[in-house]
Amino acid sequence: MFKKLHESPADFSDWYVPADGDVVCACIDGRRFADQQNFGPNSAGGSLSLLVAAKLCGYDVPDFAKFYKNLITNGVKLGAHIDEKDSQNLTKTGCGANDRLDEILEKIADKNSRAEILKQMKKLLEMALDKNVANEIGHPAAKIKLGTAHERLAAIQKAGGQVDELIGEHEEKTVIINLKTGTTLNREQSKGKMFNVDAWAFEKSAKIILMTLGEEITDTAIKKLIAALTMFNFATAMVLNPGAKIIVRR
Ligand SMILES: [Zn+2]
Repeated sequence: MFKKLHESPADFSDWYVPADGDVVCACIDGRRFADQQNFGPNSAGGSLSLLVAAKLCGYDVPDFAKFYKNLITNGVKLGAHIDEKDSQNLTKTGCGANDRLDEILEKIADKNSRAEILKQMKKLLEMALDKNVANEIGHPAAKIKLGTAHERLAAIQKAGGQVDELIGEHEEKTVIINLKTGTTLNREQSKGKMFNVDAWAFEKSAKIILMTLGEEITDTAIKKLIAALTMFNFATAMVLNPGAKIIVRR
């Protein structure tokens, strides 16, 4: 599997390094960091994923700035990013997952694209989602309102999150779903060639969401949030990089 991606499997494993923490924090965007690298586990939009997953699972988050502040209080490192091109843009922030959130949520809401996402999750991750749960996540997706991209970015920043600047061009042809616990992509090595989703970090992320919302931490609630995080990442890849090859790293 890895041979298809890169001529030398040894080189490919060199692309992964120990992750900083076990809750999603940095975006799946494959471009390089302008300054110091952020090795927080990757999920679409970074910490935005935590907010989106909570909303997809039907939790009431009336004040998302407060939600982020509470995450910091619970010891979670928050992260988001801009890029060198869009930092002065009034509507775009430079993070595709954030800028195109409405489109991504529409993919989850749309019956046909949701079915495609669920098919891929089953095929690649052996995640067979209960139909009712998938519908519960999918039906309200298009109605979720979370302000503008700049408001979402500002909320993470104001709460004390790290905002990185990414540089270089998008060259991602592949999406890696990384299941190797405790590892993340070193973008200095991969040089923008792939999106990386550290799905191994979804379980701890789910627990942190529940804890922050003051909800009971049950297996059912954890599984639903993991499903929502996974659907959000697949939908993001579908919008930002349609037709990309998806590979699972186990
Ligand atoms: Zn991004």
